[in-house]
Amino acid sequence: MKPILDLDFIDNRTPEQAAAAPSCDTHISKDTNTGRTRKLYIESYGCAMNFSDSEIVSSIMFEQGFDTTSEIDQADLVFLNTCSIREKAEQTVRNRLGQINYYKKKKPSMMIGVLGCMAERLKKSLLEEEKIVDLVVGPDAYRDLPNLINEVDGGQKAVNVLLSREETYADINPIRLNSNGVSAFISIMRGCDNMCSFCVVPFTRGRERSRDAHSIVREAEALVAQGYKEVTLLGQNVDSYKWASEDGSESVNFAQLLEKVALVSPDLRVRFSTSHPKDITDEVLYTIKKYDNICKYIHLPAQSGNSRVLELMNRTYDREWYINRVDAIRAILGEDCGISSDMIAGFCTETEEEHQDTLSLMDYVQYDYSYMFFYSERPGTLAARKLEDDIPLEVKKRRLDEIINKQRETSLARNKRDIGKVHKVLVEGPSKKSEEQLSGRNDQNKVVIFDKKHYKKGDYVNVLVTDCSVGTLFGEAVD
Ligand code: SAM
Ligand code: SF4
Repeated sequence: MKPILDLDFIDNRTPEQAAAAPSCDTHISKDTNTGRTRKLYIESYGCAMNFSDSEIVSSIMFEQGFDTTSEIDQADLVFLNTCSIREKAEQTVRNRLGQINYYKKKKPSMMIGVLGCMAERLKKSLLEEEKIVDLVVGPDAYRDLPNLINEVDGGQKAVNVLLSREETYADINPIRLNSNGVSAFISIMRGCDNMCSFCVVPFTRGRERSRDAHSIVREAEALVAQGYKEVTLLGQNVDSYKWASEDGSESVNFAQLLEKVALVSPDLRVRFSTSHPKDITDEVLYTIKKYDNICKYIHLPAQSGNSRVLELMNRTYDREWYINRVDAIRAILGEDCGISSDMIAGFCTETEEEHQDTLSLMDYVQYDYSYMFFYSERPGTLAARKLEDDIPLEVKKRRLDEIINKQRETSLARNKRDIGKVHKVLVEGPSKKSEEQLSGRNDQNKVVIFDKKHYKKGDYVNVLVTDCSVGTLFGEAVD
């Protein structure tokens, strides 16, 4: 899953510049000029799940007569699809609302909606705190958007933050906003039942529910028919995917779902995220091994390398269990399988020695990549209610630095292992630095750059890797 935003920057742009472009890692809607009468601009923050939800929202709004636009000043309706995972993510959205006020003043008829986790967490109070907001809609209420828009058209403010035990939006055909035309997200489940003590997700996205397996396979088939080459199956804990037909005659677990999607086409690469260490089974690992088109890459967030801290985090596994799962990955899928993690530095009461356990776990696993954060207390979570956020900020930041430095070392070491080997790369487009070079990803999700020659976006190319940096492999096509 994509990293949570970490916007440690000073925004010194003019109000005009800042209002025209959001900061850093946000996703913005594309232009769908189909002649609809009104235009929706949607900006998405946080994780891939949110980016995927914005595609569902765009589809619902399209049916209501809205094209999407990438230009905020063209918009009749502006949505921010928000993240609550850390305090900074929420602050970013509040700053952004301040910038959008600039446009609302120029065009008072512009409607402003806050969607997603922050809407769910703050509910009606968001309307009181942020005066420019007209509607607040939680992640399970997007089908109600047409009614809510009608209320706002009628001069009211509108809120729907009801969580659902059933909603999976299975029948909605997403409008692909986040795609390069090569890879797409497929949401396979919603919510989370895990209650990790630091995490706000169970409160903002509700109970876990799995989507009808047939609708997932149909979505993958439709993507293949449109020329897509890669799908990423998304869920907070994909290994606990479990769907059963209403009459009980059919039931599908995650390993079986992976197999069904892999069988859609041998040319379709299948990725998935996120795997929870407590739930990932050998059956899943053997399914990954069985199909060449299931990527040998597992995002397996550890959060900490210390068993006492893991217990406080309510992760329901300990260091030994985690190491056992990594050993199983290595035994079944080999040394080349990519493994990445999420790590939290400075969780409540974490000692210096316990922090060292995180670093030693990183040495043991040799992660290809990690998303790394320092602990940010979130209101309402188990940790906020029961534990003291007692690690000083400077200590959290120093520990995070050490984790980041360790990760840089292991990423480089892992990338060096790739030199001299041929990798199958799916081309995503030109490289950022040169039109003469292409950028794609190998099986392990690493970015590979090579000379363009006659290759193009969407091709699978065999690339001999000749060099690397901490974040990138460089090579030449050998077909
Ligand atoms: N479901 C995934 C899992 O269990 O690994 C992760 C979902 S969460 C959206 C992404 C990551 O954000 C977590 O793995 C964790 O590292 C980080 N995170 C969540 N809550 C946090 C908090 N309060 N402070 C710092 N990082 C946090
Ligand atoms: Fe949050 Fe834990 Fe659920 Fe992941 S598994 S979303 S960290 S509660």
